[in-house]
Amino acid sequence: MLDWYDTHKRSMPWRETDDPYRIWVSEIMLQQTRVDTVRDYYHRFLEAFPTVEALADADRDTVLKHWEGLGFYARARHLHTAAQHVVDEHDGTVPSTMDAIKDLKGVGPYTAAAVLSIAYRKPHAVLDGNVTRVLSRVFAVDEDATTSAAEGHLRDLANELLDPDRPGDFNQAMMELGALVCTPRTPHCDRCPLNAVCRAHDAGTEEDYPITPESEPVPHEDIAVGLVFDDNDRLLIQRRPDEGLLGGLWEFPGGKQEGDESMEAACRREVREELGVGMTDVEPFYTLSHAYSHFKITLHAFRGRLADGPPEAREDQPFRWVTVDELDDYAFPRANRRLIEELVRRQTEPSLFD
Ligand code: SF4
Repeated sequence: MLDWYDTHKRSMPWRETDDPYRIWVSEIMLQQTRVDTVRDYYHRFLEAFPTVEALADADRDTVLKHWEGLGFYARARHLHTAAQHVVDEHDGTVPSTMDAIKDLKGVGPYTAAAVLSIAYRKPHAVLDGNVTRVLSRVFAVDEDATTSAAEGHLRDLANELLDPDRPGDFNQAMMELGALVCTPRTPHCDRCPLNAVCRAHDAGTEEDYPITPESEPVPHEDIAVGLVFDDNDRLLIQRRPDEGLLGGLWEFPGGKQEGDESMEAACRREVREELGVGMTDVEPFYTLSHAYSHFKITLHAFRGRLADGPPEAREDQPFRWVTVDELDDYAFPRANRRLIEELVRRQTEPSLFD
């Protein structure tokens, strides 16, 4: 595996550093996100926050702005909180023991093992989706890989195989093999360094592994969104609560359609419930679809004027009035960002309401 890795590994910026902070940032970014997407974010993020102290000192909105578009925003919030903990409790040094590093917000078994093995050469095997697939095939593991029993079994296998001298490289070799060769569909067994010992390959059952339960259909929601303008063509935006999906990001007020109400009625109700104001001159603005990891939405945006007011903020959801040009200063979820692109496009009209 190490010979194969030395010859075939892809060049990645986080493979050219032994700074535990940079490796930690890369591992958080790479969770559920493709390597090619992460590259640019990694450079920009580290340019803005080159040290753990710089990240700890930054304000939350600035951190989220640098994460905008990368998704899974809890990662950014937790990384920020954890950086403050590293500065306060560990003198700015990323912990080098399993107990201490697992104490950091957002650092689970995978990230802990990855940072300890790659940055500190500690013998901890990682188990991510790629490693699970490779091991399940090589050992023909006939257990549901999503159960904790199978996970424990796979983790034991990974730890037994781990190279004690180059644990970080071995972990990366396993992940790289899963990403490049032992792919979910049509693995390239002919150029795999493990093909002589792989049981699934021997039996011609590669794609039967890993064993997973049938996936449920992806749920879908219709969401109404209000683009509420004041008399100066400024828009009302509000910040989502810190915890939960897309926490801490800014958005236009809105929410799910209820019962048999129309989408416009849902928009008016949500704006009233969230900010205590009504809308006049309401008209459809734009409809778009967006897929999150576990559900899909269709977003129905309506534009209108503030009918009464002033708006009132909910306790943990401050609001602001901003011009279309100022929207770029705030971090928005990707679906809202598409609405903003449409707003900018239509701004070339003399007035949004002409
Ligand atoms: S031989 Fe094929 S199935 Fe087995 S580990 Fe290699 S690529 Fe995966």
